[in-house]
Parts: sequence; structure tokens; C-alpha cells
Amino acid sequence: MESEFLSWLRARLPEHPRLSLGPGDDAAVLNMQPGAGCVLTSDLLSEGTDFESPPGDWGKVGRKALAMNLSDLAAMAAQPLAALVSVLLPRIGGLAIAQQIYDGMCPLVAEFDIPIAGGDTNSWEGPAVVSVTAVGQTTEHGLWLRSGARPLDRVLVTGSLGGSILGHHFDFVPRVREALLLNARYRIHAATDISDGLSLDLANILAASQVGATLDTGRIPISPAARRVARTVGGTPLEHALGDGEDFELILIVPPDEAPRLLSDQPLPVPLTQIGHIIPQPGLWERQADGSRTPLQPRGYRH
Ligand SMILES: [Mg+2]
Repeated sequence: MESEFLSWLRARLPEHPRLSLGPGDDAAVLNMQPGAGCVLTSDLLSEGTDFESPPGDWGKVGRKALAMNLSDLAAMAAQPLAALVSVLLPRIGGLAIAQQIYDGMCPLVAEFDIPIAGGDTNSWEGPAVVSVTAVGQTTEHGLWLRSGARPLDRVLVTGSLGGSILGHHFDFVPRVREALLLNARYRIHAATDISDGLSLDLANILAASQVGATLDTGRIPISPAARRVARTVGGTPLEHALGDGEDFELILIVPPDEAPRLLSDQPLPVPLTQIGHIIPQPGLWERQADGSRTPLQPRGYRH
């Protein structure tokens, strides 16, 4: 299957000026900005674990595998350059599945101008596995890390949260453009993307920065999907916004003198909302109406 798929794939891969050597040799060659840092990230999706078996639409699986990687580059404010795609497929019907996976990626390849520089394909008796590695580069504005949050910083999020299981986990648009714009115009101390759930991903920032946070839970933007999931599955819409994974929105930690400007500018096509602030004491807390605070247990998808 491999040679058949690779010749099919090569015929569909346009030449890209960023690749001085495209797929077809032992390795591809990527042109990078002199002095830029190379930013690398990888995600693996496997049938039966990360998506249903069979998924119904292999194109959606392919799109998601690439989009997740772009979201991780966005979380660092890195500019995407290229991707490597590897698929491990069932022996029966594998070629058609590989083609659907790749076709599902094509719109994102075009939208974010991120050529597929190569990859690998193989078949076995097990379920399908899709692995994407994205390559990006740092810009002159630097990188966002998880470790940069400081006391008094504000906690902001893009978009609205929760209920991604109803479809958003497949059709989300990674916040690449938004991240690059914010990094060019505003001071951001730390960031991450919401893959495992708002409270869990924020807890990762808090741990890396050795600080805590207090959330005004009443200000968390709750998606219509979170309300629908709460009605059908149970739990409150807020619990879904705090703990559902795969929103792929950004958590941004913004200095206190920068947050008001960012919030009044609203420079993105999606809303930016302030939901809390960073405190010196470790842990995640919820601010009550009377000003006291109670511990908030981080919830979400644990790997
Ligand atoms: Mg991430």
C-alpha cells in the first residue's frame, strides 16, 4: 500500500517555496528564518482511544490531528512552517482511509499555508493510528511559555468553553492567527491552549509558574454546546466549561497594566474575556460573592 499511497500523495502535494526539497527523497528540507528557533510538536490519535471505531468520517480525524498540532504552536505564539504526517492503518481498506485522512487535512494545509513535508505509512492488524508532527518557528516577538505567570496578572480566555463533544472537537479553528497578532501587539506573560479542560490546563500554567489563581466563575464564557450537554448528560454548564477538554481556545496570562487595553481593544474575531487573576499562593480557587475564596479542584481529561 505504501508506494501506491505515496505516489497518490505526491501527485497532490503542490511545491512550496518554504520547502527547498519536498517529499520524495530520504528527507525534506525546510527553509527557516535565519536566527529563528525551531518549534516542534507532535500529537497521536488512535482509533478506539481518541476517536470512535470506526469514526464515520476519516477526513475529520485527519483534520483534527493537524489542527491539534497547529493549536499547540499557537499556544507558544510560534509561526507554523510545515507538518509531517504518519499513518498506521488496517490492512483491509487502508488505502482509502489514508486518502480520506489526507483529504481532510487539505483545507487546513491551504488555510494556514503549512505544507506536508513528508511522513510515513504502514499497515498492520490493529486499529488506525494517525500521528502528525508540526514544525514552526519563533518570531521576533518571542515565545509564550507556561512558566511566565506572575502574581496580579489577569487570566483571559478566547472564545467560549465546554461541550466540544457535540462537534467542536472536530471542527475547531486553531488560534494561530490570533496568537501571532496578540504576540505582535501586546505583552503576554504566559499561555497554553485548552486541550484537556480549562481548569486542568490553567493548573499546568500555575504549576509551571509556581503561583495560584482565583477565578470569577460567573465570568467564564460558557458555550451553547456546554448548556446543551448539561441538559442531556447532566452536570452544570459551568462544570462543562471548566472541565470539558478539546475547546482548543487559548488561556492568556496578561500583566495587570496590559489587560484593560486588550479587553477594550478586543482585537480578535472572537471575544477575549477576563476570568480571574494570578495570586502568590499555589492552587486554584473560586471567588465567592462575599469576597472569600474556596478551593476549585482542577478537572478534565488526564492522559
Ligand atoms: Mg497544548
